[in-house]
Parts: sequence; structure tokens; C-alpha cells
Amino acid sequence: MSTSASKPASVADVGTPTPTDRALLEEIAIANRILFDQGVVDAFGHVSLRHPGNPQRFLLARNMAPGQVTADDILEFDIDSNPVNAAGRGMYLERFIHAEIYRLRPDVNSVVHSHSQSVVPFSVVPTVKLRAICHMCGFLGMGAPNFDIRTCAGDATSLLVTSREVGRHLAEALGDQSVVLMRGHGSTVVAPTLRLAVYRAVYTEINAKLQMDAMKLGPVVFLSEGEAAAGAQTEGQVDRPWNLWKARVSQP
Ligand code: MN
Repeated sequence: MSTSASKPASVADVGTPTPTDRALLEEIAIANRILFDQGVVDAFGHVSLRHPGNPQRFLLARNMAPGQVTADDILEFDIDSNPVNAAGRGMYLERFIHAEIYRLRPDVNSVVHSHSQSVVPFSVVPTVKLRAICHMCGFLGMGAPNFDIRTCAGDATSLLVTSREVGRHLAEALGDQSVVLMRGHGSTVVAPTLRLAVYRAVYTEINAKLQMDAMKLGPVVFLSEGEAAAGAQTEGQVDRPWNLWKARVSQP
């Protein structure tokens, strides 16, 4: 279950790179390293940003461990997941996750895909939903949908999202939610900004841990629909955790 090593791209670059501020590439690199430092991604997983200068493009690291990403490793892709400036550098096999969500969700500008460990159990037990259990996690609402790749690709896949078609089914399963689980694989988290996507990915993992602990004690009182919706107020504080997390990863 991974974006494991692909050979250097046999896919040729398409189109012309969009002018991109160096500071933006640095910010995406920091997001990669925060997600590793916070235990959301390991050697696998990725975070992307819809290009602010062209909504039909997105920025995503080349095929490498997120904890080692620097600004020079960020590539540009078109909405069909073709590279724009890879120049032969390897690409994540699962980049289709990002493109197909950007295609279906104009409100989404950043996507995190991970295999974070506490979330995976919720993807394989259909009778239990991952649901907002505390005030920092209202974005989970009344429960994250769960995407089962068997519904669109049969029961003998690697479970990886390696095509536009499977990516589209994943995006459809996400619907209008912020998090979609992926059976036996992980999850994908979306947000209107890069910082908020990182925040939600970190707190999705925390919610999963807390929910499993609480379920050992007894029946759980989850956030109500109204309480979950009110969690948007907490998300207005996103720069506070971002600055704290960023300070820990200033060097790759
Ligand atoms: Mn994956």
C-alpha cells in the first residue's frame, strides 16, 4: 500500500510551467515535513496544493519520502495527472487521487493522502464510523465515508489509486466531505487551504486514536451535527499549530 518507487517517468512533460513563487514551493515542502514529523505520513503518503495561478494544475512532490522533501522537489501536474516539469523525475503512482478530487471539488485547494496508522482500522470495520469525537475534529462531521476499491476495480488490485478512473470513484466517495477512508489502505483529507489540509490530516489521526480509546471504555457520545459544524471556529486558529509544527521542521 504505497506510492512505491516508480521508474523515472516514461510520461513526457505536457504544457508550459505556470509561474510559481519560490515561497509557495517552500510552504509545500514544509507541509510535507510537518506531516512526517507529526506521524501522519511515513516513507509513503503525499500532500498537494492546487496551483493558485491555474486551477487546472496542482503542485506535488516527486516520488520520495515526504520527510525529505525540499522546494526543489515540487513538481507541477495538469488535471489529467500528466507532469509539466518533471524532466524525467519519478512521480507518485497515486497522484490521480489529487487530480480527480480537484476536478470534482472546486472548493478544495489542498489534498493529503496518508496511511496513518490509527485510521486504517476504521477502514476495515464496516460497522464503526470514524466520527468527530472532540472539538478539534468537527470537520469529520457525522462520519467519514469509506471507499472500497473493489466496487470499481475488482478484488485483485494493489489497493492503490493508479488511474484516473479509480481516482474519480474515490472522489465520488468523498462527496462533499473533508475525509474519505480507503479500505485496507488509509485515508485522504481535503481542505480549502494547504495549512488546513495539514491540520485536518493531523487531527484525523488524533481523532482515530481517541475514538479507539473511548470505545474501549464504553458507548461513545460523539459531537452532534451542530457541534461538529461549529468546529469551523477552531479551524480559524490554524496558523497557531502551523507555526508550532513548522518550527520543528525548519531544516529537512
Ligand atoms: Mn497510498
